[in-house]
This record gives sequence, structure tokens and C-alpha cells, in this order.
Amino acid sequence: MAIFKEIAGLRHWRQALKGTLALVPTMGNLHAGHLALVRLAATRADHVLVSIYVNPLQFGPGEDFDRYPRNLGSDLQLLGEAGCQNVFAPDDNVMYPYGRQDLAIVLPPRSLSSVLCGRSRPGHFAGVSTVLSKLLHMVAPEVLVLGEKDYQQLRVVQRLLEDCNFAVQLLPAPIQREADGLAYSSRNQYLSTEERRIAPLLFQHLQELVRRSKESDADPALLAQATRASLELAGFVVEYLELRDGTSLQSLPRARPGARWFAAARLGRTRLIDNLAIDL
Ligand code: AMP
Repeated sequence: MAIFKEIAGLRHWRQALKGTLALVPTMGNLHAGHLALVRLAATRADHVLVSIYVNPLQFGPGEDFDRYPRNLGSDLQLLGEAGCQNVFAPDDNVMYPYGRQDLAIVLPPRSLSSVLCGRSRPGHFAGVSTVLSKLLHMVAPEVLVLGEKDYQQLRVVQRLLEDCNFAVQLLPAPIQREADGLAYSSRNQYLSTEERRIAPLLFQHLQELVRRSKESDADPALLAQATRASLELAGFVVEYLELRDGTSLQSLPRARPGARWFAAARLGRTRLIDNLAIDL
């Protein structure tokens, strides 16, 4: 396996590479969701490169940057088993050699980045857009694979690619879930045994919301209100539960093709996000 830690070595390898390259950017602590992206990437390009970098720019004050799980050894083992041959694992000095205080930043459109997760995580999508722009310049892939688990991120990045004319094809990957419906996430390991038992309720409630909003013309805000109460009774602190258009991310007064339910909720110290499309 080729493991690059510096940009020069990565660029050298990239320039000599024959065939197409797909980039799968991650923050490490890899799980089945990430590995599905790697497998999908391998169907669309001759080579796959996984980047592993916990990007400090996309964490706000008081968020879990310091305790975010870092496990390069087991990540490399999982990638090897999944047949991934190429990894880029830079450190902060490589990514931000002049520090992070005074830096050129990529600002995504407000309409996409200030709603949903953007409300409680100001600056998050600017951090994502900035690091991704840097990775795309360093790696120069033909294909970029992102998961629908972070659906808002996917939309933000799609606009970033268009607005900044990146010549890369974006390939969205469906959400991978545990048998009980909980979406795989590096943050699931923060959950206590009791919280892990409750966690699948988030997806179950999303399924119920999709079913109900397809069946009736009910006001999504009212549906969300009842669902929020039920989740809070189970122990969640709900941050948002909203029906929005899957492309513009604008609020919708009723279900329509392309609509999607979005949820973020906390269980103890763990913030979970999930989303589900309305297939009308
Ligand atoms: P992260 O390491 O959390 O930054 O995630 C890296 C990539 O994996 C992002 O494109 C995520 O959307 C994607 N991803 C994470 N979890 C899942 C999942 N359960 N299913 C599909 N994609 C996922």
C-alpha cells in the first residue's frame, strides 16, 4: 500500500499514474459506510485514493475535535482488506502550513450552508469547502465520492464544484446502515450501551415521517412536531427535523418529488444526523 503524508510525494505519484483516479475523502476511524464508498469508487475509476484527515477547520468551539477517534493503524488494515492501495494521510502542518487563523477560505453559498447543520455549526461548511478544495487541487482526481449520510455536505460540495469549476465528477453513495437501521458513523462509538439501543429510533421516525407525508397532505411542521415529541420522550434532544427540497435545501410546505426529511439529534454527548428521501 502507498501511504502519502506529504504533498510532494502524492503529486509525484499522481503525475506518473496511468488511468483515472477516484478520491474518497474521510476523517478516518473507518467503518462499513466508508468502505462502501471505496468499493463504489473502484467501479468508476482505475485507481482509488482515500484521504484520512480530521480537519480542524470544520469543527466549532466546544465540538468534538479533540476526542474525535483517530485510528490510522486499523484504518490502513481495513483499507488493505477492502483492496484500497493508496492513502493520503497528511497532518495539520501539511494542510495548514501557515496555521489556521489567517487563511484563504472558500465560502459556500449561504442558501445551502446556513440551514440545517449550518445553523448550529456556523463555519462548518466553509471548513469543509476549504479542505475539500485543497484536497482536490492536491489529488486532481477524475471522480469524487461522497456519502449521502452527510447529505447537506453533498449539496454544498456539488455547488462548490460548479461555482469554482472543478473538473471532477461527483459520485454520491447511498447511506449504509447497521441491521437495526442506524446509519454507520464514526461518532456511533461515543454512544453508551443504552444510547446505542435507542439510537435506531431516529431512522425509524424518519421512515414514519416519510410514510405519513406521502399518505396525506399534512403540514410537515405539524408532523415534525409530533415526531420531535416522541423522540424527546425516548431521550433524544432534537436539533432539527425538517422537510426540504433535496437539491435547493429550501423548506417545503408539503411533500413533493425530490423532497427529503432531514434530522439531527443528540443522545447524551453524541450528535447524530440522518436523512431519508420521499420517493414519490
Ligand atoms: P467522514 O469520515 O465522517 O468525514 O465521512 C467520509 C465520507 O463517508 C463522507 O462522504 C460521508 O458522507 C461518508 N459516510 C460516512 N458514513 C456513511 C454511511 N453510513 N453511509 C454512507 N456514507 C457514509
